[in-house]
Amino acid sequence: MVHGGIVIKNPFIYILDLFYPPLCPGCGNVLEDAALVVCQECRNSLPLTEHAVYPDNKVSGLFTDINKVEKAAAFCHYDHDTAFYRMIHALKYYRQPQIGVWLGKEAARHLMSGNPQWFSGIDVIVPIPLHKKRLRQRRYNQSELIAEGICKETGIAVDTRHLLRVVNNPTQTQRTTDERRANTEGIFALRYGEELRGKHILLVDDIVTTGSTLRSALSVLTPVRGLHVSILTMGEAGK
Ligand SMILES: [Zn+2]
Repeated sequence: MVHGGIVIKNPFIYILDLFYPPLCPGCGNVLEDAALVVCQECRNSLPLTEHAVYPDNKVSGLFTDINKVEKAAAFCHYDHDTAFYRMIHALKYYRQPQIGVWLGKEAARHLMSGNPQWFSGIDVIVPIPLHKKRLRQRRYNQSELIAEGICKETGIAVDTRHLLRVVNNPTQTQRTTDERRANTEGIFALRYGEELRGKHILLVDDIVTTGSTLRSALSVLTPVRGLHVSILTMGEAGK
């Protein structure tokens, strides 16, 4: 409810806030307004990559051998012990879905401020899917929430109809590049692929490390005739 420019919350929410005040997932401080999701200080200190203005960046460098990849970017650097790292952790493991949408919106806004044409020509946003077992445990797909945030800023639709995760591969953490590649081979399938002919899709994932998960998704997408792919992740982990 808005009254005279002041947002008035349901009184019950006030009582809940008293016992469980909304906290910033980056620093743990109490948020003055839960609608902010992340405090201003953490927002201002995001470790931005500036990939929007550098098309030849570290992420695009992971896919130079795949000529259907148009452009690639990560929003932030993913380093341990940073507010951004804690946000991703809370999104993935502490059931805080609002962080996903927030990140997607911030990333889209930042990319467009660096390059107003960054999203031009993209027809549809395809989040990297979770396997249904993992989805049941986590209750949401964090990449899909990020895609929703990007959609809110750009107006480009989110597509979860075509790309499926058919193998529930174990987590990639602590694996070498070769192990990651073997672990992600054949984990995706494409359904109704002919509907994507001639389209330019934006593949979205939370973090890119060696690019093996994205490459596995690309392996089922690139045979589609006339398809072009761009890639956007929230973080890039140096490896
Ligand atoms: Zn904070």
